[in-house]
Amino acid sequence: MSKSVDVKQETAAILDRLGVPRAVWTGGRMASFSPVSGEEIANLKAVTAAEAGAAIEAAHEAFKEWRLVPAPKRGELVRLLGEELRAAKADLGRLVSIEAGKITSEGQGEVQEMIDICDFAVGLSRQLYGLTIATERPGHRMMETWHPLGVVGIISAFNFPVAVWSWNAALALVCGNAIVWKPSEKTPLTALASQAILEKAIARFGATPKNLSTVLIGDRAAGEALVDHPKVALVSATGSTRMGKEVGPRVAKRFARSILELGGNNAGIVCPSADLDMALRAIAFGAMGTAGQRCTTLRRLFVHDSVYDQLVPRLKKAYTSVSVGNPLETSALVGPLIDKAAFDGMQKALGAAKAEGGAVTGGERVAEAGKETAYYVKPAIVEMPKQSGPVLEETFAPILYVMKYSDFDKALEDHNAVAAGLSSSIFTLNVQEAERFLAVDGSDCGIANVNIGTSGAEIGGAFGGEKETGGGRESGSDAWKAYMRRATNTVNYSKALPLAQGVSFDIE
Ligand code: NAD
Repeated sequence: MSKSVDVKQETAAILDRLGVPRAVWTGGRMASFSPVSGEEIANLKAVTAAEAGAAIEAAHEAFKEWRLVPAPKRGELVRLLGEELRAAKADLGRLVSIEAGKITSEGQGEVQEMIDICDFAVGLSRQLYGLTIATERPGHRMMETWHPLGVVGIISAFNFPVAVWSWNAALALVCGNAIVWKPSEKTPLTALASQAILEKAIARFGATPKNLSTVLIGDRAAGEALVDHPKVALVSATGSTRMGKEVGPRVAKRFARSILELGGNNAGIVCPSADLDMALRAIAFGAMGTAGQRCTTLRRLFVHDSVYDQLVPRLKKAYTSVSVGNPLETSALVGPLIDKAAFDGMQKALGAAKAEGGAVTGGERVAEAGKETAYYVKPAIVEMPKQSGPVLEETFAPILYVMKYSDFDKALEDHNAVAAGLSSSIFTLNVQEAERFLAVDGSDCGIANVNIGTSGAEIGGAFGGEKETGGGRESGSDAWKAYMRRATNTVNYSKALPLAQGVSFDIE
């Protein structure tokens, strides 16, 4: 890797331009690193438990005012946020690349996704509909009303350091809630930058309650403050299944709500009739894109034995020739892993795969690419005799396990035989296979695609997965309902009081 870009200097320049005060990201004890060079780029002050609690209380006060603002007016704030994001796209996208290691187009794409959810939420601010329901009682009307919920706590992962916040923030704000965000400790700077951008929108909006949006910088302890605080009505937590297993029960214990967006172990099936050129491109992006660090990354591939020898050698060639390197230089398609732990996890999984009979291509560290503390790797493709050992788990790194199949039903069974249930795809021109994959006894994932890869979801559809992926849904469709509370209202405009189900209770 040429060290043509001074990562630390550029980080400082971007944060200055976006208006993040230096006092927030210098002089603290929580170090932040860039995976691009492995160097320390900031020192932040982490919140104490008392500060986190006070921030949540203050957010609750903001909620009490914000809920009274009409929803379309709340949408105007999110419209302004979308405008500010458009203006800041180049800088924020670049900061995403610096802090999360995404290649340039993916860093910019992440900010585009923030803009898209703002547009979606603005429209939604005039569509928070309830139903009118037929009632059995004459002279009555029954309907449902959707009300703001309260403080929404957002816990996010490093790999989508800003988009996940915006999915939650844009919907939560139009729904009349206040937001408190605990970003990943690996990506605090993009969070501070996003908050500064929102603050510009808030300043333009005018009469916004103070503390409508807050960022809590810290490690999991700051996340736990959100999880346990009685005034956080909804915890939307994105991260590993391990984290979800801790957060879910704790939130449930106090009968609050959670949206859990957890790990994936996503698979694709390549059928005999597949357009192999199309499949090749989709698989390459799905498996190697974002250096294998997407929740929707393609990790398992079942290839029919009639096309295996046409597809897999081409895939291996793509793996060996893909450019790995500095994501700040536009030629690289695969950037760094987030840190040493990710690299160690990858090597461990590859070792375990070999022990199960896997044949590994790639996976080695690209030593010349960076400093000792940056972790660039060649993506790995592993031909496995069967689905076993590490194939059954999510390793958050670019490893694609490839397996041959001859029977479609067995491939489908193996496809579903993992703990996670996030994303899936099938490559086929056979309508029976395609429809079967989408049918009740097909893919058991929250996302099931035909002739496109597992990753790269767009705003509009509800995003999330089943089983150990947590069951949450975010972003599109009617995901907004999780950010509001529903009241069923029955109004009697008659002069009698008939009871439902014909019950009589006549008093003198
Ligand atoms: P992680 O679980 O280590 O951390 C995620 C966040 O949870 C961080 O902010 C962390 O501080 C916080 N956290 C951890 N333990 C906590 C606890 N006990 N209480 C409260 N907060 C806690 O995940 P990561 O390494 O940052 O991200 C990678 C993982 O996230 C992968 O498993 C990936 O599949 C998953 N992910 C899922 C989605 C999705 O939408 N399903 C999206 C992105 C990432």
